[in-house]
Amino acid sequence: MSPPIQFRPHHFLCALGFQGKGYSNRFTVNMAEIVNRLRAPSGDELEIAVTFEADHICAPCPHRRGSGCAKAEKIHALDARHAQALGLADGARLSWGEAQQRIRAQVPPGALATLCDGCQWLGLGLCETALAALHAAKR
Ligand code: SF4
Repeated sequence: MSPPIQFRPHHFLCALGFQGKGYSNRFTVNMAEIVNRLRAPSGDELEIAVTFEADHICAPCPHRRGSGCAKAEKIHALDARHAQALGLADGARLSWGEAQQRIRAQVPPGALATLCDGCQWLGLGLCETALAALHAAKR
C-alpha cells in the first residue's frame, strides 16, 4: 500500500475544486498529479493524512519556507476554518471517499465564501461549482 497523501486541512476542498490553476508551473504540475490520483477510479480508497504544516501540495510552492509558508497568517486562518468545518485533527487519517462524504455532510453549498475568505482563487467560482456538483451527485 502506498504511503498516505499529506493534506493540510484546506487542501481537501482545494483538491475537490482544482481545475489546473496554481502558483507556478511546478506547483500546478504537482497538484494535478495528486488530484488525478484522487479522481482515478480507485481514488476514493486513497488514504490521506492530515498535517498543519507544508504538505504534498505545498512541496513545490514558491511561497513554501521549509515546513512553513511565507503567507502563514492567511494559510493558518484557512486551515483553522476548514479543520473545524470538516472535523480534522492533526495526524488524522481518512480515505478520499470518506473526505468527500464529510464535505457533503458538513460543508453546504455556498459555504466557501466564508470558509475560504482571503483565497485568491475564491472569486473564480470553480471550487463552489465543484462543491455544488459533489452535493448534486449525492447518493
Ligand atoms: S477557494 Fe481557495 S482555499 Fe477554497 S477550496 Fe478553492 S482554492 Fe482552496
